[in-house]
Amino acid sequence: MSEASGSMLKQATLSARGRGLVASHAIKAGEILLQEPHLLLYLDAAFASLNAVCFHCTRLDPSPKGTGSWTICPVCQTATFCSLDCATSSSSSTHTSFVCKALSLLRLSTLDLDLQTQARYLIAAYNLAVLSPHDFQQLLALEGDGPVDEKANVLHTFLSEVIRHWQVETQRLPSWSLHFVASLLVKDQRNAFGLSTYFSDTHLRQVRAYAIYAQASFFNHDCLPNACRFDYIDRPGVGSTDIIIRALHDIPDGAEICISYFPINWSLTERQKKLRDEYGFICKCERCQVEEGWSDEDIAEQGEEISVERDTSEEGDEDMEATDEEVMDAEEDLQGSFPHAMFFAKYLCPHEGCGGTLAPLPPNQGRAVIMECNVCGQLRSEEEFLREIEEYRVSS
Ligand SMILES: [Zn+2]
Ligand SMILES: [Zn+2]
Ligand SMILES: [Zn+2]
Ligand SMILES: [Zn+2]
Repeated sequence: MSEASGSMLKQATLSARGRGLVASHAIKAGEILLQEPHLLLYLDAAFASLNAVCFHCTRLDPSPKGTGSWTICPVCQTATFCSLDCATSSSSSTHTSFVCKALSLLRLSTLDLDLQTQARYLIAAYNLAVLSPHDFQQLLALEGDGPVDEKANVLHTFLSEVIRHWQVETQRLPSWSLHFVASLLVKDQRNAFGLSTYFSDTHLRQVRAYAIYAQASFFNHDCLPNACRFDYIDRPGVGSTDIIIRALHDIPDGAEICISYFPINWSLTERQKKLRDEYGFICKCERCQVEEGWSDEDIAEQGEEISVERDTSEEGDEDMEATDEEVMDAEEDLQGSFPHAMFFAKYLCPHEGCGGTLAPLPPNQGRAVIMECNVCGQLRSEEEFLREIEEYRVSS
């Protein structure tokens, strides 16, 4: 075992799941387990094509088109910057002459948007290899390898052309083999976190950028996670693209910390397909084992319970102070219906179409537990939670 990122987590080799992260002491609900800057960041091509997201910091342009202080790089006509600061710092980091040249070629290419997004990843990875070999080694150490498929072929051809163009203009740079590109693509698929924008009017969630974090890549998946990730990409100041992992509930010393790689309300079939196709394993977690034994009727029933309407907006101003006893009674009541009912009641965001996970705000002495959704950002107090359960009890 080795210490990872401060004193909260330790890397460990776990017999069933390979390497993972465990708690290095008892952890309180809501505690921040990890806050980490990205190793690599790249924009989603569809979002980037709107020219309303900063190439360097990924903030969104809040002003209507054509107004405000945003600028676009006159050379590649692709990278947009929110401020002079971002434009200046990017020229020696994220938007070097190599990246600028590569983006110019990408703009003229016939790659579809999905391939363009992955080409942006490879460009950022190549740039990292040139600028910061140490960080690039961290990327190479991440899990994931091969296969060489059609997609890898197309992207390898594109990247080789970019490198060839660049070699003509400047000093010789290393070429990358097809197999090397293919394995980098798998590392991206398995380790990248999407940084999303949530549109509250349409309930749509759109990924605007992807980021890879050296330490956060070690969290294993569980369909009943005990931690979840937050990001605050539109917050002012530095660190807006940091990943923040918070505990959903108290976690004992030595327990493994797991996150869910996708929304927690996905069905068994959806979860197993995603994990098999993109992460290369079959999930054997407690929830998957229980759900594998279910009949079709059970599945339909669970679907209803997860999506049960828990609208609290029509409630009166009834002053309801939640006691521990009341919470426990409510929990026992729900637990009867299906084994993980309480997990969803507590941690699945109640707002329609959101699918986010709720985690307590970081612990603060003397303050009631407030849950925060990691997708829509809405907060829920313990009193509101009890009211939701009460309504559920009456309606079922
Ligand atoms: Zn910016
Ligand atoms: Zn440029
Ligand atoms: Zn599972
Ligand atoms: Zn939400």
